[in-house]
Amino acid sequence: MIKEVSLKVKPKFVNKFKSGYPLISKEAIINVNDLVEEGSIVKLVDERNIFFAKGYYGKQNKGIGWVLSRKENDSFDQRFFEKMLKEAIKDRESFYQSSETTAFRVFNGEGDGIGGLTIDYFAGYYLLTWYSKGIYHFRDDIIQALKELVEFQGIYQKKRFDEKGQYIEEDDFVAGERGHFPLIVKENGVNFAIYLNESAMVGVFLDQRDVRRTIRDVYANGKTVLNTFSYTGAFSVFAALGGATKTTSVDLANRSKSKTIEQFSVNGVDHETQAIIVEDVFKYFKYAVKKQLKFDMVILDPPSFARSKKFVFSAEKDYKNLLIEAIAITADNGTIVASTNSSAFGMDKFKSFIDAAFRESGGRYKQLEEFSLPVDFKTIKEFPEGDYLKVVFIKKIR
Ligand code: SAH
Repeated sequence: MIKEVSLKVKPKFVNKFKSGYPLISKEAIINVNDLVEEGSIVKLVDERNIFFAKGYYGKQNKGIGWVLSRKENDSFDQRFFEKMLKEAIKDRESFYQSSETTAFRVFNGEGDGIGGLTIDYFAGYYLLTWYSKGIYHFRDDIIQALKELVEFQGIYQKKRFDEKGQYIEEDDFVAGERGHFPLIVKENGVNFAIYLNESAMVGVFLDQRDVRRTIRDVYANGKTVLNTFSYTGAFSVFAALGGATKTTSVDLANRSKSKTIEQFSVNGVDHETQAIIVEDVFKYFKYAVKKQLKFDMVILDPPSFARSKKFVFSAEKDYKNLLIEAIAITADNGTIVASTNSSAFGMDKFKSFIDAAFRESGGRYKQLEEFSLPVDFKTIKEFPEGDYLKVVFIKKIR
């Protein structure tokens, strides 16, 4: 039996929840100590014990649970989840019908009504990612609901939690047939090699789809492109296919080299014509300055936090300085693609970093275009933190 716990919400938080805010935080609750077992159903009540929302208890980095319903009689069973998933799947109809793009997000956590769970589609395979032990508790009903709604070749899952609430890397086959990896999926006609059975990351971040297409279709032709924090080189592949004269990919992780070679290869690009460098980006910047290298396009897409031997990088603290280093090696009239997935700050603050970086560099710039999450990464206006992606294309003016 799943336990039910009444949580008394502090007065100043009640209205926030009532107007649709879904994330339950420790600070909002008076009787946090009544929570024992993750996966418990929680009923949110006000000072006078009047019910106004219900959800589950599950510890994630940002909260202790999510609101799933405003109806007291809803029970979180297969039928409940089926309704939610069905709606989400219907929303992605145009993605399912595309033969040019066969990888997309089917269910985006709180944006689709269930915080702590995402479901991605990769050419016949579904990948469920569980962000807490609490949501994992509902696993059987959710997987059963998915099975009722879609045809699939296989289902995989990733558990991004452990007993202490930290991320672990583990693969898990759930149902159907096991895939042969790499699985080749398409994004706007470009191939990606995907691994659902390796680590927390499958080979591509689907949320940058529109940015990659724009780089290929609008900016890359005839340009030299530096792709920093390049991971598997997805931006480099799109740039090369868009006619870049040469791409240079830089990432600290050893495996990034073979992974990038693979992504070029599955698209028929000879990787020997491109540069793939395993190095700390900050070290590479110093090298590039010393050698007086300049690039027509510099792509910056660092993790929100990273620790390397010499540096600790936090997007919120260090993005401005990262930009200053990038500006120094960008050609006049060149383009900088500044991207961040940090939910610690919004677009306005991000643009203020850009402005400050150019001011300190003594240069001028023009903003060309900006992106946030693509439509399949559905977000709700009541939870702006969920709209984490910020990408700005900037022209450096002499
Ligand atoms: N831009 C990529 C995703 C980046 S993921 C894409 O669109 O696919 C973050 C990457 O940054 C990881 O591959 C990690 O190895 C790399 N990284 C973290 N710190 C780094 C550093 N100091 N120098 C170079 N790469 C770094």
